Amino acid sequence: TPLTIIIAVIGVIAIVALVTIAVLQNKPLIPKYKYGIVLDAGSSHTAMYIYEWPAEKDNNTGRVEQTHCCKVSGSGISDYASDPKLAGESLKACMRDAERFVPSERHEETPLYLGATAGMRLLNIKDSAASDRVFQAVSESLQKSPFSFQGARILSGQEEGAFGWVTVNYLDDRLEQGLETTGALDLGGASTQISFISDSFDGSESPSNYVAFRLYGNDYNLYTHSFLCYGKDQALRMALAHQTQSGPGSIVDPCFNNGYSAVKNYSVLYESPCVSGRKPSSAPQTFTHTGKGNFYECQEVVKSIFNFTECKYSQCSFNGIFQPTLQGTYGAFSAYYFVMKFLNLTDTSVPLQSVKEALARLCATPFDTLKKQHPEVKLKFLNEYCFSGTYIFTLLTEGYNFTSRTFSDIKFIKKIKGSDAGWTLGYMLNLTNMIPAEAPDTPLLPHA
Ligand code: AMP
Repeated sequence: TPLTIIIAVIGVIAIVALVTIAVLQNKPLIPKYKYGIVLDAGSSHTAMYIYEWPAEKDNNTGRVEQTHCCKVSGSGISDYASDPKLAGESLKACMRDAERFVPSERHEETPLYLGATAGMRLLNIKDSAASDRVFQAVSESLQKSPFSFQGARILSGQEEGAFGWVTVNYLDDRLEQGLETTGALDLGGASTQISFISDSFDGSESPSNYVAFRLYGNDYNLYTHSFLCYGKDQALRMALAHQTQSGPGSIVDPCFNNGYSAVKNYSVLYESPCVSGRKPSSAPQTFTHTGKGNFYECQEVVKSIFNFTECKYSQCSFNGIFQPTLQGTYGAFSAYYFVMKFLNLTDTSVPLQSVKEALARLCATPFDTLKKQHPEVKLKFLNEYCFSGTYIFTLLTEGYNFTSRTFSDIKFIKKIKGSDAGWTLGYMLNLTNMIPAEAPDTPLLPHA
């Protein structure tokens, strides 16, 4: 009838008008992607990651990608113990950033997580009430965001290690395809993680290092360990504490370049639970820390923070911790990457001998020359590269037992296909059930 024709024409005009408005505003009617946000509250800083994936297909591997990363300015949330409100405030700028990067139609349904790692583990050991207050403050701040806040918590070392491994293998598309996996080496400021699949490990010798996964129809027996206090900042504290034991007043440190000199406070050095037990009873307030820059002597200092002798298992890495035989290739990220990048040793697989030579050269360079060579590098990092490099070298070789043959199986990486390597993606994939236990396209068995 003419009436139906008129109604149909009006309908078509209305649809065309709506689509035109949407196109002119450059916005799809319904956003094509879904989003998830994870805040990585590390010991030295917090970073916010935004992930996106096609809205129609949640379950496919390799489809979740990081679209944005925001570095929270200031220090890690564990440094706000005496003023927790500021920890909450510090997150605001990145949360406003997230409001721009996630389309407003998706805000309400976008899950938001905060995971804290070893900085908060240490604060929790030192002062659990203070750690509760920090979580209270950051939670209050995140609840005010338009996103669906799912909680703030401390990850166990096991979770941190296992989710880092999931991230690396997910981004490399190794999980869905059931390929040989890559191990994950993560170095933070306060802890370090090693995670890998070893055919000889089924968890029986050391159950606390065992994580079992079933992903896309494949079973994985993962070995993982997190060494609290063996992140590079706490390791440095332990090395300094060790050197102050031989007599208070001054340290001449082979792990710092010749020409480096600073006055440091004993109570600041010893305030961490990683060293607090060893504080000399009659120490003066300050000590002078000067560098003498010698890689070989630095290695001896670094070795002193490890216990290589105690082991009640068939084999150990260090400090009496079981470790099965190393196997396969490894991705080393976070501070491993920063330090190796500085040494210009990230692009190809590097022979162990080249790392040793680069470190010997770096440590022997006078500090003034180093500053002139790298005017763009922040002094707090430049100061420490000789120590950090030597620590990484010693941790990998003497600690985890990488040899000149297996060292080149390690790739130092920051990102894989545009997403940062780290525990955050694996954590979100797990909490949003985005990796199915069974392969999605497993054909149903035909009935007999
Ligand atoms: P976290 O905050 O626990 O994730 O630790 C990150 C570690 O990497 C800390 O020890 C930081 O000091 C260190 N770090 C960050 N950026 C750099 C850089 N450009 N060079 C060296 N170390 C870095």
